[in-house]
Amino acid sequence: MTFSELGLSAKVLAAVESSGYTEPTPIQAAAIPHVLAGRDVLGIAQTGTGKTASFTLPMLTRLEQGRARARMPRTLILEPTRELAAQVEESFGKYGQNHKLSMALLIGGVSFGDQDAKLTRGVDVLIATPGRLLDHFERGRLLLTGIEILVIDEADRMLDMGFIPDIERICKLIPPSRQTLFFSATMPPEIQRLTQQFLRNPERIEV
Ligand code: AMP
Repeated sequence: MTFSELGLSAKVLAAVESSGYTEPTPIQAAAIPHVLAGRDVLGIAQTGTGKTASFTLPMLTRLEQGRARARMPRTLILEPTRELAAQVEESFGKYGQNHKLSMALLIGGVSFGDQDAKLTRGVDVLIATPGRLLDHFERGRLLLTGIEILVIDEADRMLDMGFIPDIERICKLIPPSRQTLFFSATMPPEIQRLTQQFLRNPERIEV
């Protein structure tokens, strides 16, 4: 299997090549075609499996299709911790090096000022921890009705950290027509219930 067989765009393939990756990891080979086809995905995978690229690369390809409604973010990636959110932002920047996309990293522990300024200018991609995302929403700084793709990453860590009520709230703020990509290393009952509530006929991928 090669990256070029997966249906990714030329811009994304160029970024993959400059990252030095020669072949997709198992989760990338399994997930990318389904994400490109618009399917919901339930990925049961640990960090270190190439999980980030398995959602980032096809999301970038899909962002090349269609156009943003003015100033409305089109994709939202939720991470349980600031560190993970910052890592995903870095990966998104690397894989999206040939795209003119604007991103906002919405995490706690830093002032609202820079994040607000970015949101006012308009962003395509939001990478956030649940609490800070809801803070921005409650302050009236954020519209989530333009979100086309939602990623819930590290769901079992979200559970450990008590974020499930926040995740449920956020899911209800985004139109149900969205595509949802859901990743967890383990599948405890609370997480299974969440997938039944918020995923539509997902493709289940276990690596
Ligand atoms: P992740 O599981 O997304 O945290 O990725 C783990 C590490 O694998 C990161 O350092 C990536 O840069 C790297 N990686 C992701 N996909 C590939 C690939 N297809 N070939 C080689 N390295 C990769």
